[in-house]
Amino acid sequence: MPVIKGTKDIFSREMELFDHLYGMVDRAFYLSGYEKIEAPVMEYTELFSRSIGDFTDIVQKEMFTFLDRKGRSITLRPEGTAGVIRAYIDNNFSFNPGITKLYYYGPMFRAENPQKGRLREFHQFGCEAIGSLNPLLDVEVIKINMDLLDELGLKNISLEINSVGCRTCRKDYTDKLRIFLNENKAHLCENCVTRAEKNPMRVFDCKNEACQKVFENALFLTDHLCPECLEHFNKVKYYLDLNKIPYQINKRLVRGFDYYTKTVFEIKSGVLGSQNAVLGGGRYDYLIELLGGKPAPAVGAAAGMERILMAMTEQNIQMEGMKKKSVFIGTAGKIDEELVIRLFALLHKNNIRTFYSYNEKSLKAQFKEADKIGCDLMVILGEEELKNNKVVLRDLKKGEQKEIALDQLMDRPLDILPE
Ligand SMILES: [Zn+2]
Ligand SMILES: [Zn+2]
Repeated sequence: MPVIKGTKDIFSREMELFDHLYGMVDRAFYLSGYEKIEAPVMEYTELFSRSIGDFTDIVQKEMFTFLDRKGRSITLRPEGTAGVIRAYIDNNFSFNPGITKLYYYGPMFRAENPQKGRLREFHQFGCEAIGSLNPLLDVEVIKINMDLLDELGLKNISLEINSVGCRTCRKDYTDKLRIFLNENKAHLCENCVTRAEKNPMRVFDCKNEACQKVFENALFLTDHLCPECLEHFNKVKYYLDLNKIPYQINKRLVRGFDYYTKTVFEIKSGVLGSQNAVLGGGRYDYLIELLGGKPAPAVGAAAGMERILMAMTEQNIQMEGMKKKSVFIGTAGKIDEELVIRLFALLHKNNIRTFYSYNEKSLKAQFKEADKIGCDLMVILGEEELKNNKVVLRDLKKGEQKEIALDQLMDRPLDILPE
């Protein structure tokens, strides 16, 4: 039976890369004081339509939505923030003193056209910092994520920022934008015409070239911020400078979600082309209130793990020290099963990854098997050598071998591992 279009199995090398990435994400956020949270993969549809916005591409075209047996509308999460905020509200995190910092990772689902790097089931990690309006927090979120990409070895990463304002400045601006869009109606696609009416700022999500051409002459909210938003945006820029983080202002950057306020940002990787942000985020000061919680300002970010891994592969980044040394227990001649069992247990106890061929086969076939797995060393328990209490150690990477005393192996098993 085929796998569902736009989904895939993850195994071998790719699974190792994912695990490595998960480990790095855990480390980065743990050190920055974030706690891990796992919200369910499915939620009531309303959570997403209310938070992401009814007139966004995601809600209109990309969600996997179905009715459960009682006729309630359920959606597979298309992004992580809405579920985390629902959990924050449901579990009364707002009563925690200070800032609540959460991070997560897991599969997300969007019915996108499967193309390079765009799966329908894909993986994201993300973080949310809830409880402060301080622009220092915006910059902290940006910095943790940029440092993480840097630690992963990604080169050529660039940061774009913008401000999408607050209720006050957005209202005045939206009115002006609607007039502008109406004047240029003839050159806009059908979707943009509808959006100009219902939710004008969403037109900037449109990929249509003709529409993009029109937007070149549009007014941007960045230039019409209220004094409070302007000051906030200036401070974000100031703190980025203090952190020596270079950035560009992209006035058309609005991100595909309605919940953003003030700061929005995207991090792009040069190797993936300009369309491909690997990470994005922003502030969402009204979302908690919108979902029925005690109002609290917040800022967060999320990254596509497949995109990051693709950029890493593209740059040929080798992950040193990611794999533990592994040993294959080989046998020649009559098998001393008691010794195999004892050695297996001993290597495990010493945290050495151990393999054994359960099917009796020639030494040559065992070499082949060990090579396929990528083992570093083979301990050969040969019938002849064991008579003299010796075993053979074969360095599988160098193809060299030597004999050592069985007692030496059993006393100090870690010493046998090649450098
Ligand atoms: Zn404002
Ligand atoms: Zn359009």
